[in-house]
Amino acid sequence: MRSSILVVLYLIVMIACSQPNADKGSEAYYLQKADSILALMTLEEKIGQLNLPVGGDITTGEAGSSDVLNAIREGKVGGIFNLKSAEKIKEAQRVAFEESRLKIPLLIGMDVIHGYETLFPIPLGLSSTWDMELIEKSARIAAQEASADGINWTFSPMVDVSRDPRWGRVSEGNGEDPFLGAEIAKAMIRGYQGDDLSLQNTIMACVKHFALYGAPEAGRDYNTVDMSRQRMFNEYLLPYKVAVESGVGSVMTAFNDVDGIPATGNKWLMTDLLRENWGFNGFVVTDYTAINEMTPHGLGDLQKVSALALNAGVDMDMVGEGFLTTLEKSLKEGMVSQNQIDQAVRRILIAKFKLGLFENPFRYSDLERSKNEIFTQSNRQIAREIASQSFVLLKNDGNILPLSQKGTIALIGPMADNRENMAGTWSVAGKFTESVSLRDGLEKAVGNQMNILYARGANVVEDPEFEERVSIFGKPTYRDERPEEVMIQEAVAAARKSNVIIAAMGEAAEMSGEASSRSDIELPSNQRRLLQALKATGKPIILVLFTGRPMALKWEAENIPSILNVWFAGSEAGDAIADVLFGKVNPSGKLTATFPQNVGQIPIFYNHKNTGRPLPEGQWFQKFRSNYLDVSNDPLYPFGFGLSYTEFQYGDIQLNKKELRGDEVLKISVEVRNTGKYDGAEVVQLYVRDREASVTRPVKELKGFKKVFLKTGESQTVNFELKQDDLKFYNYDLDFVFEPGEFDIMLGSNSRDLNISRVNWN
Ligand code: BGC
Repeated sequence: MRSSILVVLYLIVMIACSQPNADKGSEAYYLQKADSILALMTLEEKIGQLNLPVGGDITTGEAGSSDVLNAIREGKVGGIFNLKSAEKIKEAQRVAFEESRLKIPLLIGMDVIHGYETLFPIPLGLSSTWDMELIEKSARIAAQEASADGINWTFSPMVDVSRDPRWGRVSEGNGEDPFLGAEIAKAMIRGYQGDDLSLQNTIMACVKHFALYGAPEAGRDYNTVDMSRQRMFNEYLLPYKVAVESGVGSVMTAFNDVDGIPATGNKWLMTDLLRENWGFNGFVVTDYTAINEMTPHGLGDLQKVSALALNAGVDMDMVGEGFLTTLEKSLKEGMVSQNQIDQAVRRILIAKFKLGLFENPFRYSDLERSKNEIFTQSNRQIAREIASQSFVLLKNDGNILPLSQKGTIALIGPMADNRENMAGTWSVAGKFTESVSLRDGLEKAVGNQMNILYARGANVVEDPEFEERVSIFGKPTYRDERPEEVMIQEAVAAARKSNVIIAAMGEAAEMSGEASSRSDIELPSNQRRLLQALKATGKPIILVLFTGRPMALKWEAENIPSILNVWFAGSEAGDAIADVLFGKVNPSGKLTATFPQNVGQIPIFYNHKNTGRPLPEGQWFQKFRSNYLDVSNDPLYPFGFGLSYTEFQYGDIQLNKKELRGDEVLKISVEVRNTGKYDGAEVVQLYVRDREASVTRPVKELKGFKKVFLKTGESQTVNFELKQDDLKFYNYDLDFVFEPGEFDIMLGSNSRDLNISRVNWN
């Protein structure tokens, strides 16, 4: 016994001192490092590295009895997650380092999705900024704060393309476009990981959910996904692929099946495509109990599905303990190989080396940083700026906005005075009660220059059971038990005494997010009735719309003069909204997901195919054309849409050539002028249509965008370049090809209102 301990100690010292002969920092170097540890491990310890429990019951001080700590001590844990406490995390690392046989440090994960304590807008909101620098900055700050509390790994970015606003998790993604989604994936990964993962304030990213999680049937969470490879490759996979190319450290599997096999057991997906084709060399973690869930998917018992997952390419098992409890048996029975297990362990050890954890397991556990670097004034200030850039002005008849700071405002609605809900969904570490509500923000902004009359006016939804379902995760909706009429009367009375109504309505934070799908995405009917009563007062109304998804707002769009969509903007929401309402910030957000007219149009997205019977432009219905009897094909608000307080005028598209060959570069430019009264930013969008190909192609695809800031009266020439590579697509055989021919080049301020030019490229 004693001698075996001595041998192990000797080996550890040898490893620490031995220098692998590969160049420091190279992949070969990390491989050698990992292998040197692997050589010391028992089978049980190896399988332990593949286990990722929640960090739940850890306590500091007398920690001995905690189940997780005991498991760490026994070498049965590779990492823990969603534990928020610098001390507890430090304790967990200490136990791993001082009390486990091999002293292997832990991965410490968390769902840091849109900020840590300083919360930024929900990802759908962040994407609406179209500002990659700001998005990167938000991830950078999230990494700084999370790492200051001991976290070294985040389960973000989520890059699931989605065209279905019924799906609650549309709030967590970047909308419907793969090109934009890919740019955002890059920015987020840069923000989290920086250039050097081992720095104290960078953390490892995890792109998720691989793959196609955003396309569940009927928008119901976790539901079946079934799509053609054509659609997969051309319309859904790009953001994951680009995340891999950007060096993302880890990938999370999806709950859904892909082509009849659950993603978590899908070898084609995780080995052939992800590793062999795309060259991913990080590690793959499952989603929460996703291995176990392959049993109800119908793929067999826990031993079988665990072996399936490992053989498919999964390295780490989140929560379900399928690996922990069955792999040893499966190895004996020949269902998995030693090599497969070693490979998974190796990948996890490499990640730990890259994070610098072997050099110093307490690298991320500096309690001083935890005290000083989180939820700071300067981080909150940046969050406020970013939030104000994420709002999308959907309507502003008669230029009601921006408001002048005079008179009386009636502030009405269930989201007006609710701090906790500003966080939005997936905000594990947020300090919800310290968020700035709209009421806080407005009151601060107007001081005693204006009068604000507040009335709640309505509950979030009429049905108390529904409301209970979404009054969760520390985000109460504060149901008011008074009868609806009484609340409405109070609101109307306040409105009558005011010059303008700000109606803070829409969804509560947890009406979107995981397992929060909705089949009806209109404004809840009780809130609609309140709006109708407010409209009857004849006072101007600004609908400040809180939502985690595109909503069907036909009535509102027809009846309310001004609509500012503010998503869930995070800790500083209220201040940021006030900044925009009073014109301190001119809104510049643009939708990244189409708003439908009604739920029956879903899926509705800008980059659809033409069909053989397209409806002629500008028409509503024609017999034997692809359309509906009862609603036009148009969205309510198209992808890329968003107004400003100022106006932008686009000149004609300028092209360097109309006939191109081979490797030539197409240079595209347009002059954009701010012709309105306010300084402001515009997102100039470039779309392309491939007019003839061997497979059907979308009517347009985003190929570029630039956000430019123009003072009033100022103009700027905005330039883009396209190469053949930018026009490639996956053909029927899934080869990524350029097919010569005609291409429409379209430029404008959203996916609908575009100037067109055409080129021939051979
Ligand atoms: C979600 C993931 C998340 C994980 C860990 C799952 O339910 O689907 O996105 O990262 O839980 O909290």
